[in-house]
Formats: sequence, structure tokens, C-alpha cells
Amino acid sequence: MIKDKYDIVIIGSGFSGIAAADILADHDLSILLIDENIHIGGQLLRKIPEELGEYPSYKPEKIKRIGFDFIDKVKQKKITLMNKTALLGVYENNELLIEYNREKTFTLKYDFILFATGARERFLPFKGWTLPGVYSTGMLQVLIKNFGVLPAKKMLMAGSGLFLFAAAYEYLKNGGKLLGIMEQSPFWNKVKFLPQFFHQSSKFLEGAGYISKILLSGVPVKFQRHVIEARGEKNLEEVVIGKLDKHGELISGTEKTYKTDTLVVGYGFVPNIEAPQMAGCQLEYCKEKGGWTVVVNDRMETNVENILAAGEITGIGGANKSLNEGKIAAYTILEKLGLMDKENLAPLFKKLKKERKHHMSFVKCFNSLYQIKPKTVLGIPDDTIVCRCESVDMKSIKDAVSMGCHDPNGLKMATRCTMGQCQGRTCAPVIYDLLQILCSRTPEETGLFSVRPPFKPVSISALNKSNKS
Ligand SMILES: Cc1cc2nc3c(=O)[nH]c(=O)nc-3n(C[C@H](O)[C@H](O)[C@H](O)COP(=O)(O)OP(=O)(O)OC[C@H]3O[C@@H](n4cnc5c(N)ncnc54)[C@H](O)[C@@H]3O)c2cc1C
Repeated sequence: MIKDKYDIVIIGSGFSGIAAADILADHDLSILLIDENIHIGGQLLRKIPEELGEYPSYKPEKIKRIGFDFIDKVKQKKITLMNKTALLGVYENNELLIEYNREKTFTLKYDFILFATGARERFLPFKGWTLPGVYSTGMLQVLIKNFGVLPAKKMLMAGSGLFLFAAAYEYLKNGGKLLGIMEQSPFWNKVKFLPQFFHQSSKFLEGAGYISKILLSGVPVKFQRHVIEARGEKNLEEVVIGKLDKHGELISGTEKTYKTDTLVVGYGFVPNIEAPQMAGCQLEYCKEKGGWTVVVNDRMETNVENILAAGEITGIGGANKSLNEGKIAAYTILEKLGLMDKENLAPLFKKLKKERKHHMSFVKCFNSLYQIKPKTVLGIPDDTIVCRCESVDMKSIKDAVSMGCHDPNGLKMATRCTMGQCQGRTCAPVIYDLLQILCSRTPEETGLFSVRPPFKPVSISALNKSNKS
């Protein structure tokens, strides 16, 4: 039976959510931890369901072992844990609208809320990106880790960021063959950040490990490469790749065609800020943190009383940062509730805040390595679909801007972009970039799409069935 009110509601069961839940559950508190995913553990801690069997090569690395241990602990503690459960809205008077398993909806209240909603993938549209046979890196990972299958025996990968290489490594490890990896960013900008990387040796070694294993397996890795077009009549048949100059503009004559029926693309991550945005939390735009993020102090408090945020939503920085911030958020709540005294907390906070400083310096360095240049965004051809749910192409966006739609909501009304099933989860980040570039405005001047409940699609039957049993 779900209660009408919880002391603490945690949204998201990734590293930050489970780290916080683990600490909080050692005290006499009512805690609700929800996640829309079918499993607990967020994006990183995926496992093939037991009924499908483990895949033989599966040996989780250290950070994942830490995460799976947390999951085991949390499952045994006094926490109400709900998967397949999505937060749909945040209202005044500490009220939340929640949907369970596409079956029913209910509202409940909280004293404290911790947003640990993580990140999603960033996309860069190109001609043909809606063709069957074009997958995202996240989808590749879900297929391998949750279902134990590969999308194809042989394929091409393109995009940008460390996750592109992590996903490629996972694919190769499971017997796939790669025609190549086309990285959008240049190679040389990684070299100038080398000293910074040595401060974060584990991350450096992780990245170096992936790339060296990929190179040793003979896969061609090319930098400053961009997907021009994915072609095919009904399904993907070939991919055209071109070289970018140092300003991100396509160098004509460099086009190369790869015959393949499968292309996997990924351009890093963007924070899931919609719920904190609706709760009135202050947001800031910081390219080095991954775009729009939630503003927190060093105790993970937002500007809204009793609302905290932790993990990727405060800056894209990986599992260790999320773990660290989840712990800080939990201790802050315990202190505010008077359940731990300041003297005992002081050394813990000191250690965790010092660790966080390291993570944040890595965040800034890491994200600046993989920026998509304005000229690349402007180079998206006019007939390319940008909002795939509502089939809004680049030309419609440019036309609306030239008619005076200079902010996201005006553009939405003029073109229907972001109004579809995904509610802008796929296209909003590139539309923000486009508006800033086309209107020569700062992100703050451009602003954000307004957020309204439900954040996620919900069925009428679920809305109709409103109970907590
Ligand atoms: C597709 C994808 C794949 C990734 N794979 C890797 C990888 O292989 N290796 C790696 O090092 N890092 C990976 N990352 C990065 C990873 O997210 C971080 O390293 C870290 O695990 C983040 O932890 P977190 O707690 O901040 O968020 P996450 O792990 O992202 O967890 C956030 C959780 O919040 C839930 N959520 C969000 N909104 C709602 C809502 N409205 N209602 C209910 N639940 C909600 C999500 O379902 C998710 O489970 C991946 C990220 C993504 C987006």
C-alpha cells in the first residue's frame, strides 16, 4: 500500500538515487524510491534478466560492482521501492503526480524530495536519421545489457564522446564487427587536456582502455568525421561520412560512402531537468556541464526549500560523481532533520566535498572536449527532420525564426516542434543550439521550453484509475 505522504521521495534509482537511499534508510524514515525503468540501477547498472541467462563474458568492472552491491543493500532495507513508476508532475504544497506501470496514477506528498533523474542521450540530426537501421548508442547498450543481443553482426558507429567508445567496446567484446568509429571532435584537443586527465587517473585509464582495445582489434577510428547522410529505400543501406574542418564545417570532396545496414550514433548526454524545472528550481546553462543543469550549493540543495538534486542533472560527470553527490544529499537531509549532529557530519562533509571538487573539475574538462561546433549545427540541410515526432524539418525552423519566433515556446507554437510523444526529449537540445546560433542570443536570453505535466506519455486508462493500493 502506497502512503499519502513520505518523509523523503527520491526520483531516479541510478548511482545518486541508490547512494542516497542507502544512507537514509539507516534511520527511521519513510522513503519512497521510484524509477520509470524496469530495473533499479539507472543507466549504468543494467543486467540481463535472470530468465535470459548471463552472457559468458560478463565481468562487471569495479564501479559497477560497487553499484550492484548498493542495489543488494538497498533492496534489503526499509524503503518503498517502485520500478516502472514515473513522476509525471510536481505541484504546489509538496504534491507529486505519479504513474505506475501504465496502469494507474496517484498523488502523494513529501517533506523532502531528491531529484536524481540522471541524463539522456544527445542527438544531432542528419539526413536519414529516422531510417530503420539507425540506432542510438544507448539503444545498443540496452540491447546488449538488457536483452543479450546485438543489433547486427557488422555495423558503423559515429558521433562523439567517451560513451561512443564505451558502447563500441561492449559491442566488440560481445562478438560484433565494426566497419569503423567516426568521432566528430578533433584528436588534438584531447592532448591539451592531458595534465588534467592525470588528476582523474581512473577516468583516463577507462577511456584509454576502451580506445586501445578498439585499436588493437583493428577497427579504424577517425576523428573530425561527421555523418552527412544515412541512405536507403526502406531500411538503411549506406552511410555517407565527411571530414570537418577546425570550425566544424564540412570539407567538400571528403565524402566517403560505407555500405552497411546498421549505424549506431551518439553525441554524449544532456541532463534530465524537466522535473526540477517544474518544481521551480533554479537552472543554469553551462556548456562545460553538459547544457542546462540544476543549480545546487555544495550540500546539493536547490534554491527551493527541501528540494535537493544530485547526479548527472547537476553536470554530466559519470558514476563516481553521482555516487558522491547522492551521499552528500543524504547527509544534508539527515542534518536538516536533526538525525545526525553537526560534529559527526563535519568530517564526512569535508571528505565528500573535497572529492566533489575533483569530480567537478573533471566535468568541465571532459565536457569541453566534445562540444558540437555551431557551424556543424548550422550545416544541417534544410530537408532534414529535426523534431522526429512531429516531422518538423530544418527549413520550417529557419522560416519560423525569420518570421520572429526567437524563443523556444514561440517556435513550438509556430512549428509544433517538441509537441510530440517524446515532448522534446530528443530534439530540444539541438533546437536550443539552433535558436542561440540563428538569433545570436545567449542561452539565458533564449530560455527554455515550458514544462507541463505529464512529463511522460500517460494513458487515459491509467489516469482514470487513480488509487494507491
Ligand atoms: C543511455 C545511457 C547509457 C549510459 N551508459 C553508461 C555506461 O555504460 N558507462 C558509464 O560509465 N556511464 C554511462 N552512462 C552515464 C551514467 O548515466 C552515469 O555514469 C551515472 O550512472 C549516472 O547516475 P545518475 O544517478 O546521475 O543517473 P542515471 O543512472 O541516469 O539514473 C537516473 C534514473 O532516473 C530515472 N528517471 C528519470 N526521470 C524520471 C521520472 N520522471 N520518473 C521516474 N524515473 C525517472 C531514469 O529512469 C534513471 O534510471 C549512461 C547514460 C545514459 C543516458
